[in-house]
Amino acid sequence: MYLVLLGPPGVGKGTEAELLAEKFSITHLSTGDMLREAVARKTEAGKAASAYMLKGELVPDEIVIGLFREVVGGAGNGFVLDGFPRNRPQAESLEETLRGEGINLTAVISLKADDAILISRLSGRRQCRDCDAIYHLGNYPPKSEGVCDKCGGELYQRKDDREEAIRERLAVYQEQTPQLLDYYGEKGLLEKISANDTSQETFVRICDILQKKKTS
Ligand code: AMP
Repeated sequence: MYLVLLGPPGVGKGTEAELLAEKFSITHLSTGDMLREAVARKTEAGKAASAYMLKGELVPDEIVIGLFREVVGGAGNGFVLDGFPRNRPQAESLEETLRGEGINLTAVISLKADDAILISRLSGRRQCRDCDAIYHLGNYPPKSEGVCDKCGGELYQRKDDREEAIRERLAVYQEQTPQLLDYYGEKGLLEKISANDTSQETFVRICDILQKKKTS
């Protein structure tokens, strides 16, 4: 199964991608996590990307596409892409890479939620420094404050989850997404889902769609 999750920051792509990866034994590929790791390891890509990320802007396509190409070959069982592609050139590059691997996308799922919900989810979000697991101070707190339930790592607030960067990230998303939705709509791959409710309710909706695709 080869899935793409589209949606604004805070809509829950990372959480849904984790659930999908577990259920279908596929690989969760998040370009945001790859970039944050590159920044933490101070690689060339990380050094080039960090200023864009802090401001909430998109990192240049060649850096992101390069990182993606390094890992995609390892996702033999299938993947769920979270945060990639973000614009049409990236979508075209993805298509070319997959063609080279003989892979067809199964579905592109676009998640949507109200702005007030997105902002509340982002400002309460905490992430594990070690395993990237995601928590929310209100809706999904860790058992012990500041500590990851899964690996015991330290939880932190992403710098781009603060108000100024959140606004920029939402604006970038509004600007880039219509062309992506058109691109995948024309290919008959696009499925739109409301993600206003809990992550479990959204997950059930995604699974229903995948089930229908399988039987159609
Ligand atoms: P995310 O974790 O998906 O919210 O991404 C965090 C930040 O990483 C974004 O605000 C961008 O600066 C950068 N980023 C992640 N994925 C991409 C991408 N596909 N293209 C460009 N920049 C990206």
